[in-house]
Amino acid sequence: TDPILVAELASRMAFKSAQVVQKLFEMGMPTTVNESVDADTAVLIVEEFGHKAKIINAAAVEDVLVEDVSEDSPEDLEPRPPVVVVMGHVDHGKTSILDALRKANVADGEAGGITQHIGAYMVKLEGGERVVFVDTPGHEAFTGLRARGASMTDVAVLVVAADDGVMPQTVEALNHARAAGVPIIVAMNKMDKEGADPEKVMRQLAEHEVIPEEWGGNTMFVPVSAHTGLGLDDLLEMLALQTEILELKANPQRRGKGIVVESRLDRGRGPVATVLVQNGTFNQGDTVVVGSATGRLRAIVDENSVQHRTAGPSIPFELLGLDSVPEAGQEIFAVENEKQARDIVRYRKDMEREQGAEAKKRASLDELFANM
Ligand code: GDP
Ligand code: MG
Repeated sequence: TDPILVAELASRMAFKSAQVVQKLFEMGMPTTVNESVDADTAVLIVEEFGHKAKIINAAAVEDVLVEDVSEDSPEDLEPRPPVVVVMGHVDHGKTSILDALRKANVADGEAGGITQHIGAYMVKLEGGERVVFVDTPGHEAFTGLRARGASMTDVAVLVVAADDGVMPQTVEALNHARAAGVPIIVAMNKMDKEGADPEKVMRQLAEHEVIPEEWGGNTMFVPVSAHTGLGLDDLLEMLALQTEILELKANPQRRGKGIVVESRLDRGRGPVATVLVQNGTFNQGDTVVVGSATGRLRAIVDENSVQHRTAGPSIPFELLGLDSVPEAGQEIFAVENEKQARDIVRYRKDMEREQGAEAKKRASLDELFANM
């Protein structure tokens, strides 16, 4: 496992090196500040100092130290909205369905008018429930995250055009959703079109072991039309139902932790990232770290360009104030203070450099052997 310098370990826990050295000595592992300990020992130390730690991935010891993985006590947990991804074959109507749902929402008069594409947005249902839609090309909602056993979505809506039926990317999307272990709702779209054949869609998906409820299976199928609006209410209702079953909860009391959904460099505003909050609450003014980018959370902006002071679990928001552009799929954490942020970023940049140097060394060795 990857070692970590005692000095680094101490700094990331915001303890003095001497305290960590003392603790190591007490634990029968005399080590100096400039020596390294392995990941297991690091975890032991972290726990000794009253933090909870777990190794998510031995190669990413630093994640153990950045992320506060202490467990939430049940009384702190509160219901959170589901995060829904809409997937399916190209041109089967994903964007149209999302637009139709959003328009219905805007008509309800949340914040009039101009909505921006930020890659995720929230819809308020009639009963007051909230649903968050992730509006990224389907698989991107999963790749990268799955490797770490995380997923940013709770429910997948699989869109299949009822006139076209199951296509290669339908199956691909299905496999992604399955691998992520999220429940699937099938939206059979374009029901207004001549030749729409929902029975065929059901048969085709049954061949992939997605069995409709009316056939004794456990998957909800709903006929919809993004154009006429047919069935969209049913779709939302099913999402509400599915949400109730999942009993999604999070702890808004702790420091914010989220995932970058989208990012870009904006001419006027600098690095901009859309963040989906996984747990805790981000507050305006928080210091955050994402990859080797850091910054103070200058503004929390929603898709209606409205500014907020905080963003809690499942809430998507645009983040301004980072010093560089993070990558989609990266995890973002609020940290204790700027010093901690600087330490983490320095450590990560060192790691990147080291890995880069090693890769270069390997490459030149490969070249050497290739030329022999
Ligand atoms: P995406 O690639 O899955 O995002 O699909 P789009 O939403 O871009 O839709 C592809 C095409 O299908 C567009 O020309 C839409 O106008 C059309 N379309 C989408 N939904 C419907 C629908 O319910 N009925 C009909 N007739 N056309 C639709
Ligand atoms: Mg689209």
